[in-house]
This record gives sequence, C-alpha cells and structure tokens, in this order.
Amino acid sequence: MRKPAVALAAITSAMALAATPALAAIPTIFSTSGGDPYFPAAGNGGYDAKHYFLDLKYDTATKAMDATAQIRLKALSDLGKLSFDLLGPTAPSGGLTVERVRIGSTNQSFVQQGNELVVTLATPLRAAEMTELTVDYAGTMGQPLDIEEAPYGFYTFADGAMVANEPDGAKTWYPVNDIPSDKATYEFNVTVPVGKTAVANGELISKRTKDGWTSWRWRSADVIASYLTTASIGDYDLTTDRTSTGLPIINAVDRDFSAANKATIASRLARQPAIVEYFESVFGPYPFTSFGGIWDDNSLGYALETQTRPIYSYNGRNITGEGTVVHELAHQWFGNSTTPEYWTDIWLNEGFGTFAPWLWTEHNGGLTTAQQFTSIYNGRAANHPGWVKAPSNPGPEDLFNDAVYTRGGLTLAALRTKIGDSAFFGLVKEWAQQQKQANYTTADFVAMAEKWSGQDLDNFFNVWIHTPGKPAPGSW
Ligand SMILES: [Zn+2]
Repeated sequence: MRKPAVALAAITSAMALAATPALAAIPTIFSTSGGDPYFPAAGNGGYDAKHYFLDLKYDTATKAMDATAQIRLKALSDLGKLSFDLLGPTAPSGGLTVERVRIGSTNQSFVQQGNELVVTLATPLRAAEMTELTVDYAGTMGQPLDIEEAPYGFYTFADGAMVANEPDGAKTWYPVNDIPSDKATYEFNVTVPVGKTAVANGELISKRTKDGWTSWRWRSADVIASYLTTASIGDYDLTTDRTSTGLPIINAVDRDFSAANKATIASRLARQPAIVEYFESVFGPYPFTSFGGIWDDNSLGYALETQTRPIYSYNGRNITGEGTVVHELAHQWFGNSTTPEYWTDIWLNEGFGTFAPWLWTEHNGGLTTAQQFTSIYNGRAANHPGWVKAPSNPGPEDLFNDAVYTRGGLTLAALRTKIGDSAFFGLVKEWAQQQKQANYTTADFVAMAEKWSGQDLDNFFNVWIHTPGKPAPGSW
C-alpha cells in the first residue's frame, strides 16, 4: 500500500483497539455493500465485474471530466437491479453526475443515492448471464480525501492529476465495484489537452492527437483490483527500459523537476531492472506484463504501488529513496498479484512491503533481515507506539499504522528465523505465485507457513499478528 513521501513521524494512537469486526461473506445478491468490514459502503453485491473500458476526457484548465465507462459483468444471481460506487454530485470535493445508463441502445433507469449509482434493469439478468453497461457521466474534479483525510482518488493539481485510489477512491473517477476482491481487466482511453501526458496501468497501445487533444490508450491484460488503477495526468516524459528478460519498464517523469532532481530520479530508474531481476530470483516470475513508475513534482504525501506503475510524490525537498521504489516493486507480487480479500489483512501487503527492502539490503551486503529485526526489536522499548497495535485488524482509520508496516516486516523476519531459509523462501515463493484472480486471508498464509515448515505456528502468529504489545523475548 502506501509509503509516506517523508519519514514516518512516530505515530501515537490514542484510539482504543476496535473490537474485531465480523467478516461478512461477499454478497452474491443485489447489495450496495461489498461486505468489507472496514468499508461497508464500498463494493456492491450480486455481480462480478470482468472488464472496464474507461473513456475519459479531462481538461486540465477547467478540471472538467466528460466520461463514458463500459462495464462488462457477470450476474451472480438473478438480478433486477445493479449498483456501483461513484462519488455523488453533492460530494464536498466535487462529484460526478450520471447522464445516461444503457445496455446496447436500451436506456436503463437509474438513481444516484449518495455515492451509489443504482440501476434498475429494463430486463432482469439471469444468474451467470453476462452483460455490458455503458454509463455516461461528467463532473468537475477536485481534491477528494479518504477516511483519514489524506488526499486520494482522482486528485487534481494545476498541471493535471495524480490518481491513487487506496483504499476506496476508484469511485472518485469511475463507476466501480470498489472492493479488492472483484478484480477485472482494464482499458483506458484518456484524452487530455495536447502537450499533457496521461499514464495508466499496463502498456500504451496508441496515442492520437486531433483538434488540440491527445488520446492516450492504455491496456492491462492482467486483472487489477480497483484500488490499484490509475490514470495520472501531467507534464510527463515517457521512457522505456527493459530487464535482461525483456520486461518493459515504462517510466513517466515530470518535466517540471529541476535538472538535479531529474538526475536523481534517473539514478533510481537505472536500478529498477536489477531489483526486478533479484526479486524474480526470490519471489518467482514478475506477475505482470510491464513495470515502471510515475514521478510527479506534486505531492499526495506518499507513494502508492498502482499496478505495474507506482506513483511517487515529491515532498519538495527529497526525491523518493530507493527503499520506497523497492517497497512498491515488491507490492507487485504482494498485494497486487496476491491480494487480501478484506482490508483487515492489509499487513499481508505492508509486511512484505517492509520486509522486501530488508532482503534487498541483505542481498547488497548490508544488514541481514535477522540483524534488522534485532536492531528494531531492541531499539523499541515496550511503550514505543509501534507496539500499540497488533498488525491484524488495525481498524479502518489505521490501515497505514506503523504496526501494519514495521511490525508486519518484523513478523516475517522472525518467521524466517523460526522456520529456516528453506521453508521460508519456499513459502514466500508459493505465496507470491498464487492465482491473480483470487484473494487471500491471514488464515491462508498461516496454513501455507505451517505446510512449508511442518510446525504448528498458531502461537507464533498469535503473538506477532493478533496480540497488541511488544512480544516478550522467548514468547514465540
Ligand atoms: Zn506499501
């Protein structure tokens, strides 16, 4: 998930530990909730989204969006109604007004209720039937904030927009089933004033300029969770690099950076092929058809692992460090390909996002992961804020808590020591190479760790993942 653009200040949390919310089943009947315990308003029940084609025209001068979304989906039960998440027109940051919903040429009746678009189908769908809806919508784009009041979604700046949806911000720019468990393939046709560059996930398949506008068409043949989609717009120069096995690395760098900053970014980009190649040796084949990064001189305050093309903010002082590039690259395996079913399990993303740069450091002759563990464990007294929470179930307002990141990484380092390198790296590779279309829980990870190690690890994970407070020496 996210990685702050500046070093994490000590996070203090006066928030009492929330009671564990029950995991709802993902609904297979019409519902305006996808069943996530942290974000019950996100997602929808009754269908499986298969493909989104987003045809967006965005005017950077007026911030006006005029868009059409084609959504191919499969009904999971007989359905007379469908709903999608979409920021409603009365949203404080500016929202989107739906003008027309149709299937083929047949108009469908619809209503926008807050951040839900509810469509009543002219002809009900039968279970397992496929259909394709076309939604025309428009609005003036703004600066949406997430539950923690951090910038997210389609976040506009004077020269364009940085688009980073985690956790439920895809709804700020298209109608969507906005939960991590409903992945789909995507194609984007983003039309912007000539001179601007639009960068989305996957690969650029065409670029056409007409009447003062340029349409940038990108396609991801691999499925994407909605929180990992992007269509960022700015003054970017595109360059393409390749790993030794030919994987394209497509980078977008803001032309507005100073020459010195461009040189620093170039040094980060130059390292990417070697990092990909190292991680392929540890985690198995890179899961997607391209990689790269979007380097913007504006700031969301963090970086995000948007699929195939992470976004890097500029904090006005330092260019994002190599550790963050390593973190976002590791997420392509951990989080993007192997994705948690619910947000309660975000430590499975961020624990690996923290641990992977330690592995890279060890690979380059620095501290081993065991040495990193000892340094952090010994350096944090029992009252350090990083021990306040357990990594599992941090609560919806603490998805990006230090317990999820650092303690998640410490958990993996401790696990490596406990079960040994052979079992640990076998586990890591199998975990990384699971089916992209599926989603996973902490219980799945524990079961796989027990399989590889032949050990009962209930106590280990109870101590490290489920119990607040600094684990006592010898307790795991
Ligand atoms: Zn992360």
